[in-house]
Formats: sequence, C-alpha cells, structure tokens
Amino acid sequence: MRIVLIGPPGAGKGTQARVLAEHLSIPAISTGDLFRAHVERGTPLGRQARTYMNAGGLVPDEVTTAMTADRLREADAASGYLLDGFPRTVRQGELLDEVLAAHNATLDRVLAFDVPDDDLVRRLAGRRTCGDCGLAQHATAASGDEPGACQQCGGALQRRKDDQEETVRNRLAVYTEQTEPLLDWYKARGLLTRVNATGSVDEVTRRTLAAVLPSTSRSV
Ligand code: ADP
Ligand code: ZN
Repeated sequence: MRIVLIGPPGAGKGTQARVLAEHLSIPAISTGDLFRAHVERGTPLGRQARTYMNAGGLVPDEVTTAMTADRLREADAASGYLLDGFPRTVRQGELLDEVLAAHNATLDRVLAFDVPDDDLVRRLAGRRTCGDCGLAQHATAASGDEPGACQQCGGALQRRKDDQEETVRNRLAVYTEQTEPLLDWYKARGLLTRVNATGSVDEVTRRTLAAVLPSTSRSV
C-alpha cells in the first residue's frame, strides 16, 4: 500500500505513521526526519534545508522531491510505504505523481489529520523527541523544561528547534497557505479521507486503520 499522511504540525502524523507502519509492514518515510538527519550529518542538503526549517518555512519543492524520490528507490519501499510530511504543496503532489508513474505505481489513500489549532499549539509546546529512538512524546508536568528520559528506550529527550512558539505559528500559517490546497487537489481525485485526530493515540490509531482498511475488522 502507498499512503500519504497530511496534517498540520502537531497533528500526530509521525506517531501514527510509526504505528501504522508496524501494522501494515511497510516503512514510514518522514521527510522531516530525513532533513533532520542531513542537518545532523552536516551534508550540503542539510545546510541548505536548515535555514528553511529553523524559520518554520518549507524547503523548496524540487529539493524535497529529489530527496524523497531517492528514498523511495530503496529496496524496503518496493512494496509500499507511508509518506509522512510529503507532499506538502500541490507542486510536490504533481512531482510525486511523476515519481509514482516512473515506478508504475499509484497512491491507495491520502489521510488528512484534523485537529483544532488550540490543541496543536498546546501539543507542540510540550513535545519532546528522543535523541536515540526518535519517538515523540509529551513532556510531563513534573519534568517542565528539564530534559526527561524517553518512555520507550530511556534516551535523552530533546525539544525540537522549530517547536518554539514563534516558529510554530509560522508553521501553522504555512500549512494553511501551502498545504491545505493540496487537500482539495486529492479530494477531487477521490483519494482523500479525513481523520479526526483528537483524543488518545490509540483512538486515533483505530480511526486511521479504519480509514486505510475499511473492509477488515480488527482490534488495536
Ligand atoms: P511538522 O509536520 O511537525 O511540521 P516535520 O518533521 O514533518 O514537522 O518537518 C519539519 C520541517 O522540515 C518543516 O517545517 C519543513 O521546513 C521541512 N519539511 C519537511 N517536509 C517537507 C516538505 N514536504 N516540503 C518542504 N519542507 C519540508
Ligand atoms: Zn527513545
């Protein structure tokens, strides 16, 4: 299966992508994670992307698509994948179609995660990411601004640079302006399913699986 996940920053796409990937035995490919890995390694691509990321803007479409296309050529993506964070503009959607055509492939479904803006700001302010395993989790009230330990592997939790309030506001505006038009674009092609992404991670997982595998009954 080839599935695209779209949602505003803080909607929980990354968390759901990991859970879904395990259920469906396909890789979750996050362009945000790919960019962060390049930034960490200090590659030319990372140096180029960093400026955009730290400002909460989008990395240019051609650059992002080239990086994603490379990843989709890897062996583990041959029988399907979840795309988390790509495409984010109509132009990227068009470029993805070209990449898919070159692989003789089509998308099965596009999921759009819906969360009210107030919830997003609250989630992002408290979001911490594990430096070792990459799991995103919410800072506990007790830990406050102290870096806590990962609930999955015990690694050190970090706050993402672009989760500062000013940058968050910009990312939300960018989503409304540049990514929301993509929803209509996929809707017109009958590929879009909206998922209510409020509530617990498990609730959202149930709704997401129901959207991807509508005919199968399952328990999570
Ligand atoms: P979030 O979805 O929470 O905003 P991501 O980890 O998906 O965070 O992305 C972090 C940053 O990486 C984005 O703000 C943007 O600068 C860059 N990025 C990720 N995916 C794309 C994309 N498809 N196009 C352009 N820039 C991207
Ligand atoms: Zn961890």
